[in-house]
Amino acid sequence: SKAALFDAENKVKITFNDVAGLDEAKEEIKEIVDFLKTPEKFTKLGGKIPKGALLVGPPGTGKTLLAKAVAGEAGVPFFTLSGSDFVEMFVGVGAARVRDLFKQAKEKAPCIVFIDEIDAIGRSRGRGQMPGSNDERENTLNSLLVEMDGFATDSGVIILAATNRPDVLDSALLRPGRFDRQISIDKPDIVGREAIFKVHLKPLKLNKDVDPKKLSAQTPGFAGAEIANVCNEAALIAARRNKETVDLQDFHDAIDRVIGGLEKKNKIISPEE
Ligand code: ATP
Repeated sequence: SKAALFDAENKVKITFNDVAGLDEAKEEIKEIVDFLKTPEKFTKLGGKIPKGALLVGPPGTGKTLLAKAVAGEAGVPFFTLSGSDFVEMFVGVGAARVRDLFKQAKEKAPCIVFIDEIDAIGRSRGRGQMPGSNDERENTLNSLLVEMDGFATDSGVIILAATNRPDVLDSALLRPGRFDRQISIDKPDIVGREAIFKVHLKPLKLNKDVDPKKLSAQTPGFAGAEIANVCNEAALIAARRNKETVDLQDFHDAIDRVIGGLEKKNKIISPEE
């Protein structure tokens, strides 16, 4: 029997309001919302709607969030799959899974298909090191290319893919008619961090001494995911201390904890450096 392979979210509630900072990226990706909402406006003049865009940037910067917000803004279903799941879980059947995914997506069009970590399938040949045999990965990649070339630009399916390693991608993926648009999603600067703090402070019961401007100054190098993590940790720390509100001290301790976690992770990832 066929299990539910792909998460298809039909009613996405995330909108651009949930994505803080990233003003340029939002501006660029708004175009795709228009393609999904009013395709005729573009095709009646003979233009071809792009099939996909690549979101490029470091982990935790909001690529998934932004892709989902496109679906939320356009009011269309959101299909998601992760490149690494593909290579790890579906040995021997990757190509068939890709076909399945696109078949389902076309039935639900207009919609967004989001491929996270596309580098796991889309590495250029001869750059192995991923689990599963290289043949298998190449079959999956070829099947993705065939699907992308095969569906009409007016099918209403737009593919967004995310990577933090655009340099390793097979150039076939980046050719015109495939992922020919790249949108860069950078780590937030101090202003961006403040905006992200504001989003994630909203659900918390805060003490008056908590100031998003100061918090953003104290978290250089943090991505959005880490800021979300700090806010949640601070609330948990305050609760453990039986406080009525989350205060600045709780945030400082949460920041220390998140920095500690990052340092540990870096040690594990790069032991030979
Ligand atoms: P990865 O490459 O690791 O998959 P990503 O770039 O897709 O990361 P997301 O999964 O979108 O990052 O971000 C994780 C979480 O961090 C989001 O669900 C959100 O809570 C928070 N976050 C990240 N960036 C932002 C942002 N710009 N505004 C608000 N929240 C953000």
